[in-house]
Amino acid sequence: MKFTHELLPQRVVFDSYAAADHVAAEVERLGARRPMLISTGTSIELEGAVRHTEVVMHVPVEVAERARSSAASHGVDVLVAVGGGSTTGLAKAVALTTGLPIIAVPTTYAGSEATAVWGLTEGGRKTTGTDPRVLPRVVVYDASLTLSLPVPLSVASGLNAVAHGVDSMWAPRADPINRAFALESIRALNAGLPRVFDHPSDVEGRENLLYGAYLAAVAFASAGSGLHHKVCHVLGGMFNLPHAPTHAVVLPYVTALNEFAAPALAPAFGAPTALEGLLRLANRLDAPRSLRELGLREADLPAAADGVLAAVPGNNPAPVDGARLATLLHDAWEGKDPR
Ligand code: NAD
Repeated sequence: MKFTHELLPQRVVFDSYAAADHVAAEVERLGARRPMLISTGTSIELEGAVRHTEVVMHVPVEVAERARSSAASHGVDVLVAVGGGSTTGLAKAVALTTGLPIIAVPTTYAGSEATAVWGLTEGGRKTTGTDPRVLPRVVVYDASLTLSLPVPLSVASGLNAVAHGVDSMWAPRADPINRAFALESIRALNAGLPRVFDHPSDVEGRENLLYGAYLAAVAFASAGSGLHHKVCHVLGGMFNLPHAPTHAVVLPYVTALNEFAAPALAPAFGAPTALEGLLRLANRLDAPRSLRELGLREADLPAAADGVLAAVPGNNPAPVDGARLATLLHDAWEGKDPR
């Protein structure tokens, strides 16, 4: 065994039905007095906070600029983001230029709260980067805030978390610590997703998903983007496909290609192979199955394949060339059985 692993410094508080109290306590711990509460829809009460409700997927720069100006004009000293990846993403954009600390209260399973990755969109082009200033100082997980997440969104977001775990097994900086986090995340998500599908208002199933989503995101933050994330990043960026459902569709095809290199995945899914486990899960959850149903046109596939080819990680376990990618993307577009 030989590896160098870096852990990101972050405090994690996990307690259902108690986010408001924990956030107030964490604001005080940070010595802050003027929070900006960024949220749309599901939120919490926070005394003395400036409310900011303009949140847009993929963080357009104009939206980030307005949030930055509002933070400056109100003398904000801490950002509290209550929402999904888009809300956390806006807080990160503000932290990127101001250095303000973030307290993240996730209401989906996207996992952005556990990474130091930011993303901004300008003129339809998304730019991402890594900066320690955008890593939330504190994450407060309260599964009761995810009870309102509709089942199809819960499924897609939960499978997005599964994708973080699976791709971490072979991503460029995959190491035994990332793999340990990833495998435990898959066990928790594989158990929690059917439970949430059957009983969306059962808070324990939701806790399993948040716990799994956090572990998966920690693994992903350290291991980096593997082939699966490269494919989804290109599809999302070039064709504006919905983030979480795109992950749900693409993952089985990349798993079929790479799973020979990660035999520990199958037992984490409780299945004979990882692909079998993933397909069982997707069927059980009635997950989206093709890029076509997400709105991608067949004519866009060659450009997508070119975009992905330029980004394939050099150490991907299976050799990947243009022809292999074209087949993978066409199969995913059609929703063909990846077996
Ligand atoms: P999202 O934040 O856009 O939320 C999706 C929808 O669900 C929105 O309409 C939102 O209002 C609604 N919603 C959220 N929580 C809810 C709840 N509890 N109840 C009811 N409705 C709720 O989607 P997402 O999948 O969480 O995040 C996607 C974004 O996050 C993308 O822009 C993606 O690039 C980014 N992301 C970034 C990272 C990172 O490390 N930087 C990681 C994952 C995702």
